[in-house]
Amino acid sequence: MNLHEFQAKQLFNRYGISTPEGQSVTSGSQARQVAQQLAGERWVVKAQVHAGGRGKAGGVKLVDSLDEVEELTYELLGKHLVTHQTTAEGLPINQVLIEKPSDIDRELYVAVLVDRVTEQIVFMISAQGGMDIEAVAEEDPDAILNLYVDPVVGLQDYQCRCAGFFLNLTGDAFKQLRTVMQGLYQLFIENDVNLVEINPLVVTGQNELLAVDAKLNLDENGVFRHAELAAMFDPTQEDEAEVVAKQYGLNYIALDGDVACMVNGAGLAMATMDLIQKEGGQPANFLDVGGGTTADRVAEAFKLILSEKKVKSILVNIFGGIVRCDLIAEGIIQAAKEVGMPLPVIVRLEGTNAELGRELLAASGMNIRVAQDLTDAAKQAVIAAQEV
Ligand code: GDP
Ligand code: MN
Repeated sequence: MNLHEFQAKQLFNRYGISTPEGQSVTSGSQARQVAQQLAGERWVVKAQVHAGGRGKAGGVKLVDSLDEVEELTYELLGKHLVTHQTTAEGLPINQVLIEKPSDIDRELYVAVLVDRVTEQIVFMISAQGGMDIEAVAEEDPDAILNLYVDPVVGLQDYQCRCAGFFLNLTGDAFKQLRTVMQGLYQLFIENDVNLVEINPLVVTGQNELLAVDAKLNLDENGVFRHAELAAMFDPTQEDEAEVVAKQYGLNYIALDGDVACMVNGAGLAMATMDLIQKEGGQPANFLDVGGGTTADRVAEAFKLILSEKKVKSILVNIFGGIVRCDLIAEGIIQAAKEVGMPLPVIVRLEGTNAELGRELLAASGMNIRVAQDLTDAAKQAVIAAQEV
């Protein structure tokens, strides 16, 4: 789960990490008010969306009059921002952050994440902040310092000093780096964070460190332990179908293809997607309806699939171990009654009550093809999608 920049910055402040003064707003007039309160002659106006690359996309601007603060905020709100990290459709801007501009001398990069290879928390540090870290990693990997944290002893001060030397920091900025890194480490472990990134971490003209940007991704499995953070969830920034799926306990991820699939079990779902590709098709989604699913949930899963316009055929692959195949069949029929079934459905049922399930489907009078086995099902689904 991602947080907005302004939310992440609130969290930063709590952990002693300095950020520019500012406030998020939801209207042009409010933006003017906030800018007035901040005083000064220039302000930064920042679109709040769950994506990076906003600067290049026109989502971050420096303006020098209150009128411009109000106009630009008004203009941004309600629009979609398209950056190189979003889809072509972009993400809706519902909040705008108004900040005091920072006196930027240098832009650094600091991120904390879990390294899956060493199974340790790693600090990624670079003097080349403000730009795409992926590009830096590719073109000049030596420009990035990786510091691994031993989970038993936590982040050590000598590691902060290493980072300070690597970044050529001196004086106050050198000392403040320790505060920033220790703050990030505490924030990371106390809030079940997956990734926290400051890009840029600015060295100001007064040689102070300031987190000018903030990206924070929380481990969804841990969010229930942090009610305050859970309340920061912004469904407008997520794929709509995926939000609905979450409500019904479905593991759903939208993909680009046109052969939808509904499967019980994540492993079987992956294998099903592989088979679709092997037969020359492209899966429209990943969907695991879970081991002990109900007819209701299957019906919701079907509605979800049908809400995606790109889908041209549906492959149902159920291995009835815990779940009963007749329940799955009932779910399919229930969904068809509620929303209609305009697309060809290919079903492979195996296991508990598979025979009964097939009979129910056959008797339903729906346009359902029962496959002999999984390969046959994938083949039929791919052909059906090509025929539409
Ligand atoms: P991103 O493009 O989504 O990563 O958004 P950022 O918050 O990182 O802003 C993009 C760039 O805008 C930064 O790398 C800075 O160069 C610039 N920027 C942001 N805030 C300020 C500011 O207060 N003053 C100045 N001069 N530049 C800023
Ligand atoms: Mn940034």
